[in-house]
Amino acid sequence: MKNKRLRNDIILLLTLLSAALAVWGLVKLAQKKGGFAVVEINGAETARYPLDTDIEIVIETADGHENLLVIENGFARIEDADCPDRLCVKQGRIGMAGESIICLPHRLVVRIAGEEGVDAVS
Ligand SMILES: [Zn+2]
Repeated sequence: MKNKRLRNDIILLLTLLSAALAVWGLVKLAQKKGGFAVVEINGAETARYPLDTDIEIVIETADGHENLLVIENGFARIEDADCPDRLCVKQGRIGMAGESIICLPHRLVVRIAGEEGVDAVS
């Protein structure tokens, strides 16, 4: 009797686990992996970098300020910046299509575009 109950518990646990995995998988599928980090200054695209190539780029804004963009392991982040609030640095790394890092003082946006180079429909 005790064994049977244990087995039922294990089956229940496995069912819950696979359900959780399925949900997690769906969320992951819905979040489309980005293909490019697109740099925009004053609303105009100035450059785009593939996320599958690790690189460090110093982005210079029109008024001579700098943001250090780092692409690593398929993610983009602002590693350093000389803006006063440094919110862009605190925003961390992004890698999913449609995500973006915004540096308001520098009017700089780094956003992730889809694999095909076409923006994801949101
Ligand atoms: Zn900033």
